Amino acid sequence: MTTLPIYMDDHATTRVDPRVVEVMLPYLTSVFGNPGSVNHSFGWDAQQAVDASRQSVATSLHAQPKDILFTSGATESNNLALRGVCLRNEHKGKHVISVLTEHHAILDPLDRLKRRDEFDVTLLPVSNHDPNTIGTIDLQQLEDAIRPDTVLVSVMFANNEIGTIQPIAEIGELCRKHNVLFHTDATQAVGRLPIDVNAMHIDLMSFSAHKFYGPKGVGGLYVRRDGPRPKLLPLVDGGGQEGGLRAGTLNTAGIVAMAHALELALDELQTESTRLSQLRNHLYSQLTNKFSDLLLNGPNLNGLGHRLHNNLNVCFGDVDGEALMMSTPDLAISSGSACSSTNPEPSHVLRSIGRSDDETRASLRFGLGRFTTLADVDVAVQLLTASIQRLRAMH
Ligand code: PMP
Repeated sequence: MTTLPIYMDDHATTRVDPRVVEVMLPYLTSVFGNPGSVNHSFGWDAQQAVDASRQSVATSLHAQPKDILFTSGATESNNLALRGVCLRNEHKGKHVISVLTEHHAILDPLDRLKRRDEFDVTLLPVSNHDPNTIGTIDLQQLEDAIRPDTVLVSVMFANNEIGTIQPIAEIGELCRKHNVLFHTDATQAVGRLPIDVNAMHIDLMSFSAHKFYGPKGVGGLYVRRDGPRPKLLPLVDGGGQEGGLRAGTLNTAGIVAMAHALELALDELQTESTRLSQLRNHLYSQLTNKFSDLLLNGPNLNGLGHRLHNNLNVCFGDVDGEALMMSTPDLAISSGSACSSTNPEPSHVLRSIGRSDDETRASLRFGLGRFTTLADVDVAVQLLTASIQRLRAMH
């Protein structure tokens, strides 16, 4: 049974899992103390919950509890990582390397560093030749771009539009070899892929609970505390929380929820990856059966590990994507990043992989998730088919 409207926009956000809500609720009602209140049991209980959650998040990422900073989400974590590292390490150099297909929560802070603080920013192009690796960076190009004054390399783990998974461990190794700090925006990867910050040589990593069935407004930044230890300039001053790096009363309920959401996601990771890639592939083959001019955006769906298993992004030939979404109100999909949907510019990600403006405008993104069923996929295909027939009849 499918209930309308159908939600297929899990890259934008996910529904909070009822099991997470249950664990979180007491921290809004009975255990409501401020974890910073050191003089009474309300504060101690809240602090204990934060400590246990920090331990749990660290374990999930193969990190140490002291490496985890709680923030309001990935946008804040990205800003803290980029501006925090760059502004604290200006004496070492003023060069940063990142990628053309990053989210605006990376590109905009980089732009500010460039304009306001006179940093030199290199944005690497991505591959669009080999169908298996579309959207990945070239490691040789990265190595060639590293200079003596490079302070930071920031490469997203998995892309929010086309699902490309970057060769993170190799990038980490390269950065370590050249003594450059490595940050990854892992917002779309945490909870969907196994991550070991040590094995992957990650120095800083951003993540956000609402992408893995936790609530909005809570996230984290992993900051390695041993080995090549990044020094950060805080962006927010105040009560000295989080070692002075991120002041502000901790969001106890959100933090508890995020830790539990991540545990659940990792417990179910294997079975969910298989289930979702089968559903996603079924969606794609149904769509290709109906529309002969369908074009896949991003890496092949063949399971070589270069694409998120829940992601599909396709170009519907001559159909306008916005018009298609408007005429299919019972299906929630997207034309790209939710965060830039107020910006009518065609997607910079699709442009970077060589799509024309017309192809970009005809493209739509599907993000399947924990609550997507086979029936949802079949109904979604029927809804889209009916809409496209209507739109084509109007021309
Ligand atoms: N980075 C990526 C890759 C994202 O997909 C998003 C969310 N769309 C963000 C950063 C921003 O995350 P948040 O909503 O937690 O600020």
